[in-house]
Amino acid sequence: MKKLILFLMISSLIACGGNKQKENATPSVEDFNYSVDKFADVEILRYRVPGFEKLSLKQKEMIYYLSQAAIEGRDILYDQNNKYNLSIRRILEAVYENYKGDRDAEPFKQLTTYLKRVWMANGIHHHYSEDKFTPAFSTSYFAETVKSIDPAKLPLQQGETVDQLIARISPVIFDPTVYPKRTNQADGVDLILTSANNYYEGVTQQEAEDFYTKMKNPRDSTPISYGLNSKLMKENGKIVEKTYKIGGMYSKALSRVVGWLEKAAEVAENDKQRDIINTLIRFNQTGDLKTFDEYCIKWVQDLTSQVDFVNGFTETYADPLGLKASWESIVNFKNIEATKRTEIISSNAQWFEDNSPVDKNFKKEKVKGVSAKVITVAMLGGDCYPPTPIGINLPNANWIRAEYGSKSVTIENITEAYDQVAMGNGFNEEFMWSDEERNRAKEYASLTNNLHTDLHECLGHGSGKLLPGTDPNALKAYDSTIEEARADLFGLYYIGDPKLVELGLLPNNEAFKAEYYQFLMNGMMTQLTRIKPGKNIEEAHMRNRQLIANWVYENGKAEKVVEFRVRDGKSFVVVNDYNKVRILFGKLLAEIQRIKSTGDFNGGRDLVEKYAVKVNSDLHKEVLARYEKLNLAPYKGFVNPVYTLVTDKKGKIKDVTVSYTENYVDQNLRYSREYSKLPNYN
Ligand code: ZN
Repeated sequence: MKKLILFLMISSLIACGGNKQKENATPSVEDFNYSVDKFADVEILRYRVPGFEKLSLKQKEMIYYLSQAAIEGRDILYDQNNKYNLSIRRILEAVYENYKGDRDAEPFKQLTTYLKRVWMANGIHHHYSEDKFTPAFSTSYFAETVKSIDPAKLPLQQGETVDQLIARISPVIFDPTVYPKRTNQADGVDLILTSANNYYEGVTQQEAEDFYTKMKNPRDSTPISYGLNSKLMKENGKIVEKTYKIGGMYSKALSRVVGWLEKAAEVAENDKQRDIINTLIRFNQTGDLKTFDEYCIKWVQDLTSQVDFVNGFTETYADPLGLKASWESIVNFKNIEATKRTEIISSNAQWFEDNSPVDKNFKKEKVKGVSAKVITVAMLGGDCYPPTPIGINLPNANWIRAEYGSKSVTIENITEAYDQVAMGNGFNEEFMWSDEERNRAKEYASLTNNLHTDLHECLGHGSGKLLPGTDPNALKAYDSTIEEARADLFGLYYIGDPKLVELGLLPNNEAFKAEYYQFLMNGMMTQLTRIKPGKNIEEAHMRNRQLIANWVYENGKAEKVVEFRVRDGKSFVVVNDYNKVRILFGKLLAEIQRIKSTGDFNGGRDLVEKYAVKVNSDLHKEVLARYEKLNLAPYKGFVNPVYTLVTDKKGKIKDVTVSYTENYVDQNLRYSREYSKLPNYN
């Protein structure tokens, strides 16, 4: 990582020979202002796009068009998260932009914070905890400010008065019993009726499960992703799917996405890539899930194009049944230097598969097409904005992964931003046991973190196989947690393998301890900073981390492999034997793979419910109190850079420039002004 930053700095120095080019060069790490805004539990960061200026004009143009397509889908996600989100955002923005009263008053500041939180979460539910957050201002203040502005600025339905709008919306914002949870994963209740998101309406969990079970043919070895791009609802007492497509649901946003994709296709790097984009366009036009599979297969096989993208209905975490996908987009280009690291990993994929501690019946005889690269993100959209992942692995369909492999990426300019703001913020001083752990973190954590992400994405998700006849949805609501645990454990097990030193990926047999310590400290303790007092853990990645850490702690207790130690009234995680930790990671990996391969629902459920969900309330209180003193924001979101087409007098495109000056509020207001074409309700 350090080497990489140095490399980028030197290359941008070389790039800025003349004055003209200087404006276009990526700012160096030292000169860059990573932190943009701070509110509630969130810090908004900015990311650099090093190397953009070195792309060809065509590539830059393509990034420009794909970036536009990425922003156009923003409204879709708001509506998917809850059917009132677009109206609420529009009311708040109208007040924010037009309120003539006292803007320095406390309640107006609270309203501004609430609006910033809505932008961060793409709606009224916390992006991570999925709980509805409540505003600090009162219902009457809300009514007063809304009434004070020009009604023409408000998202009124036909024939609706401002009072009626306020009466309709207020409970959704203020009443804690209305839509309390975006995606409910709690055991033993109807997960669909108790989830606030907009993937289902008027149907019970049983009805939805029956509807899709009937569709599936257990003998179909290449099933489409049933339900992926639709809302399931009742019309005249009959259950119907409302498909997301041009001419169907979300038509106005999708037709604009397609307009930009068409422009991108014109400047594609090669015919293969043009074909990929055209297939995606066809999918948006027809909503046909067979076309979607065709697109995925073409996309996963394109390893040559430098510019790449995700654009559409992709991840299914937000649906309690794991069928329906939220809209997201990431536009990126390959970081060629850093990709050498992941190429070493993927070219040894078979060795890793063969040597894993998993039962050989659950291993892939032949690991196919594990492609891996490090990318530089150029634009984030939908479910990747403002909060964004640091790695992705797609496509999601099991049979496509098995037959054609998967594409896996580590997003290094995002982790760079995380690492840069985390340096010297006091966190490690507060929570790590001693200087030994801190020094190791300083020296190796950036490298081992990236490497763990690489292993998780390139190998972890792609490893292992289902036994013939196993339903890929057998683990139901527990599948996301088990799947993430599987990928994390694969990475953890191997990051401690001397093979990585042999391959030149780690400098010595000491470095992996930095990752082990941080992973266990995070899973056993410090990730609790993200959980509100009295709450359990809901989010799949957090559940997975606690599952692994607590399992290792409990199962190594007799030998004191990992301990909690108390010093000056504060709890610390102490690792006594790193090699035994690795053995435990391997044991758990074998068990988790067995659960996945055999579709053992009860096994998965027992592990998750025993280790991953419940929080030790005393420890939780302590961690929150210590964390509060540091005055840090547990969640990060991002603003995008702004790309501008530079044309000559005849309108011919000469260049695309990138700027890093737009702030969080301006960016979101601009997106809402220029990229918001969906009706209030869809
Ligand atoms: Zn993952």
